[in-house]
Amino acid sequence: MKSALVCGAGGFIGSHLVKRLKREGFWVRGADLKFPEFAETEADDFIITDLREPVNCRAIVDRRFDEVYQLAADMGGAGYVFVGEHDADIMHNSAAINLNMLEACKNRTIKRIFYSSSACMYPQHNQLDPNAPVTREDSAYPADPDSEYGWEKLFSERLYLAYHKNYGMDVRVARYHNIFGPEGSWRDGREKAPAALCRKVAEAKNGGSIEMWGDGEQTRSFMFVDECLEATTRLTRSNWTGPVNIGSEEMVTINQLAEMIMGVAGKQLDIIHIPGPLGVRGRNSHNDLFEEKLGWRPSQTLNEGIKKTYPWIERQVELMRGSNAP
Ligand code: NAD
Repeated sequence: MKSALVCGAGGFIGSHLVKRLKREGFWVRGADLKFPEFAETEADDFIITDLREPVNCRAIVDRRFDEVYQLAADMGGAGYVFVGEHDADIMHNSAAINLNMLEACKNRTIKRIFYSSSACMYPQHNQLDPNAPVTREDSAYPADPDSEYGWEKLFSERLYLAYHKNYGMDVRVARYHNIFGPEGSWRDGREKAPAALCRKVAEAKNGGSIEMWGDGEQTRSFMFVDECLEATTRLTRSNWTGPVNIGSEEMVTINQLAEMIMGVAGKQLDIIHIPGPLGVRGRNSHNDLFEEKLGWRPSQTLNEGIKKTYPWIERQVELMRGSNAP
């Protein structure tokens, strides 16, 4: 039986990855500071641990694994990573996890380790035009990410690649663009635009209004979590290191995203634009390299993903209302 270790298995993508690996027949160990919030973990073994401590990383890597996925990070949406208040924690915590996990895997002669970097590592000067942002993999340098979160990702990408070069480890590095789906943060301050807008639409009365940070004309693309996992496992099992984008190429404005969610919800709402943290003006994934190396590109539309995500968030809103009722 094949075995896998998922670091960050209590988080959004990690908890979905555990389910997928179990369906594939793996024995899975999950590790995180917390259990998944919205469903029981399906991991065979789940260790609550702080991966900023080297000794804890050594403890979870007490055996060989066929695949290690390192998804643990101090992370969140714009309201967490672009406000500046968490920069030191984000850089320290995530870098410590990556330094420790690589060392632990090297000492156990574990070879195959996947690392989730982020599109936030791309230079901000290439993402000023909302209609033509550049995120080709070879546009990463000269580096100029717009957040400390992005700088840490860039540093850690290089760290993984250095372990590949010097210690022959089969690292795999992906740059995730916005990933969304059910069972992710939706109201804890770490939620991203799709979950936040789904929540606001679910909470609003038909004919009412929702608030949105900025003018809503900034562009992004959003990938449904199942497609992210398909790309992640394909890359991990390939014989190619990356770094490579994993994201959708269906670019929309945030206003269009909100309209789409309203369409799925069957509600007509006004959008009130308010000041707030925004990130770069435009961003879209660029998937030619993934297709060239791995012969696959995503095909699900944003609307299909919203149709699977909105009902889950609407249900959370109803449950919350029920629990707050007198
Ligand atoms: P998430 O916040 O839901 O999951 C991250 C998990 O890491 C959390 O469960 C958290 O508790 C855990 N963690 C944090 N510090 C830890 C520590 N010291 N020890 C052990 N566990 C710790 O985030 P996610 O959306 O599932 O993202 C997974 C990975 O993908 C992250 O590395 C993130 O930076 C990257 N990524 C995600 C997106 C996205 O759109 N979701 C985009 C780009 C990159």
